[in-house]
Amino acid sequence: MRVLVTGGTGYIGSHLVDALIRRGDEVLVIDNLSTGRYENIRHLRGNPAFRFINDTILNEALLERMIPSRDLIFHLAAAVGVRHIVKDPLAAINTNVRGTEVVLDQAFRYWKRIVIASTSEIYGKASHVPFREDDDRVLGSTAVTRWSYSMSKAIDEHFAFAYAAKGLPVSIVRYFNSYGPRLDERGYGSVVANFARQALHGEPITVHGDGQQSRCFTFISDTVAGTLLAGEVAGAVGEAFNIGSPHETSILELAHTVKRLTRSKSPIQFVPYEVCYGSGFEDPRRRVPAIDKAKRLLGFQPKVGLETGLKKTLAWCREHYRH
Ligand code: UDP
Repeated sequence: MRVLVTGGTGYIGSHLVDALIRRGDEVLVIDNLSTGRYENIRHLRGNPAFRFINDTILNEALLERMIPSRDLIFHLAAAVGVRHIVKDPLAAINTNVRGTEVVLDQAFRYWKRIVIASTSEIYGKASHVPFREDDDRVLGSTAVTRWSYSMSKAIDEHFAFAYAAKGLPVSIVRYFNSYGPRLDERGYGSVVANFARQALHGEPITVHGDGQQSRCFTFISDTVAGTLLAGEVAGAVGEAFNIGSPHETSILELAHTVKRLTRSKSPIQFVPYEVCYGSGFEDPRRRVPAIDKAKRLLGFQPKVGLETGLKKTLAWCREHYRH
């Protein structure tokens, strides 16, 4: 197949590209390297099945030229991670809303199957876990910047469902705390990347709040497997899926596990939320995906446990996180 991956130099995007190339597809990546990294795709240079265009997805003329020759589109280009959104909400909203609008518009024009990457942030601070795909979303005030991420991705999803109602073969994947090699130590700021960097450098491992908040950490190969299925299974069309591990881990437990696996002497330090994110920050206490829909319709089954995934991730971080 001839596949377009927007955001293909990013952490998840580049692993998706590798998987597509491995299965024999021809892959075009459009990415402006705003949060992605050239290093993530450098190994594909010279591969005749791979092409990279360094440009923004807001370039409609480019998409209009490239999309007609594609069989399938994975739209991953976005401003991701709470830290980015809090730092520059305007850019994040623009990229996430306008970008997806442009890509979907072109996919619709040329009638191409498309998978839209979304996020568990969609559910906001809903407290009833596990989250089912059709659950209510619970968001805070628009004065709290964090919620603009959830809102912008929700608008993307509304666009997708609206196009689906007109017949476009579109599916949505909601990622839950993906981690693995290529997690950016500077950018996305995920807790796994932060803890890995801190533990490997002997710096304090910074646990926000009391550390009893939990997440369901999902190893990258499982994230990618769910994404690929959403692009190929007939029953996926017109549907949204939670793509994540159902296994819950507290942030404090994660800190101890990273410390143990790296044999680090770093102390574990509790840091109030206000110090990292400013005042008025709201953090979802628990975030657990219900994955029965993804299992039933896609055949999705996460395979990699936290300890195994962390060992692979930390081995990569040891090689790549240098100051
Ligand atoms: N977190 C932490 N220390 C860090 C970075 C994050 O304790 O250095 C916490 C953060 O406050 C949140 C959890 O880890 O409770 C997951 O944060 P992340 O940004 O990775 O993902 P998200 O909040 O989007 O699930």
